[in-house]
Amino acid sequence: MASVSVSSRLNKAIHQHYMSLPQGDLCQVTYIWIDGSGEGLRNKTRTLYREPQGIEDIPEWNFDGSSTYQAEGSNSDMFLIPVAMFRDPFTLESNKLVLCEVLKYNRLPAGNCKQQEILFLLQLTDTETNWFWSMIEAAVYLIDCFDCLIFLSVKLTLQYTPFPSCTESNLRSGCKKVMEEVKHYIPWFGMEQEYTLLGMDGRPYGWPQNGFPGPQGPYYCGVGADNAYGRDIMECHYKACLYSGVKICGTNAEVMPSQFEFQVGLCEGIEMGDHLWMARFLLHRVCEDFGVVATLDPKPMKGNWNGAGCHTNVSTKEMREEGGLQHIEQAIEKLSKRHSQHICVYDPHGGQDNIRRLTGLHETSSIHDFCFGVANRGASIRIPRQVAQEGKGYFEDRRPSANCDPYAVTGAIARTCLLGMEE
Ligand code: ADP
Ligand code: MN
Ligand code: MN
Ligand code: MN
Ligand code: MN
Repeated sequence: MASVSVSSRLNKAIHQHYMSLPQGDLCQVTYIWIDGSGEGLRNKTRTLYREPQGIEDIPEWNFDGSSTYQAEGSNSDMFLIPVAMFRDPFTLESNKLVLCEVLKYNRLPAGNCKQQEILFLLQLTDTETNWFWSMIEAAVYLIDCFDCLIFLSVKLTLQYTPFPSCTESNLRSGCKKVMEEVKHYIPWFGMEQEYTLLGMDGRPYGWPQNGFPGPQGPYYCGVGADNAYGRDIMECHYKACLYSGVKICGTNAEVMPSQFEFQVGLCEGIEMGDHLWMARFLLHRVCEDFGVVATLDPKPMKGNWNGAGCHTNVSTKEMREEGGLQHIEQAIEKLSKRHSQHICVYDPHGGQDNIRRLTGLHETSSIHDFCFGVANRGASIRIPRQVAQEGKGYFEDRRPSANCDPYAVTGAIARTCLLGMEE
């Protein structure tokens, strides 16, 4: 990371002069897409000669996939296919932000050039897990002794097949197909995006350089200079979302200082992923103006500090109607049978990010177990108390990591609960 935020230090009064120049009928359209890391967002801008009225007025475009981990240099032209249009809260009327899907030269969804590793630990029994850790300890010991790298070859049988989309970066395309198949259920989603602000030194924003803030307790929904570490970001991001048309429905400061949350919803089907990704773009872009960094790492600080998740709230028409609780319970039953497959797609690294967060402590469940409960924030799935009382409503999947791909998460939930696909 650069040591100072160079962009935020440029003269904003001069910037404002140019930004206020009239632009006639010309329209700036910023194309935004997910890069090959499955986490990073990229964008570039072009001029259209009149304001697009809808997504169909925005032409396809292209970019160099070899610079975004999405293609080899020899065949690197990728297509940008506009899928959702928003108003641009940075350059204002009538400019647009457009979320895009990425297709390869053959018009198939973009893949990822890097190999994904799958978390196989999940499938081990206790004894096997212990054995695995003693192997690791032995290896660390040997590395210490011989000061060289030891390669361990551990052969294990994988007892499950990951979702087919696991190694692709354009997960929207698969999610869209599933959402089409289940659309008669009218699936609604709401996702709670937690994030942590970092200074340019990589420390949580506002934390003492050689120490720690006071322990967790006063920060969640806190007020006052000693409790709120960066409220401006939360407020500006909220306004930017409202202006642009992102369905943001709330925000709050989180348990760890410098950690916040915003909620996006209610969204139907594929819209969930589209709106959450755009909300993330706006977050990173707002932070850029302030010279801070928003990380979606699920456990930015080790130790007695809360991690960051992306709780996913789900309902179908049946669940929302009289007697819906029974349908919620059926969905949870199905989820219980595919725990490891879900963990595999609830972060971009096959479960390896989330393993640092889902420890069973700090309002999380253990990554190794599936459990559910009413009003239980230590469960994999929580049924909100009000839902249990009314006998209808929605459930909350608390497992997704803050850096999850919402297309993968909502797609997996729809597959498991509504298609009941046996893979
Ligand atoms: P929590 O108590 O878990 O912190 P929040 O208030 O942060 O809850 O978030 C609740 C989320 O649940 C919101 O994103 C909202 O859109 C979503 N939600 C509410 N009702 C439904 C529903 N019927 N179906 C799906 N999602 C819902
Ligand atoms: Mn060029
Ligand atoms: Mn919440
Ligand atoms: Mn939260
Ligand atoms: Mn929640």
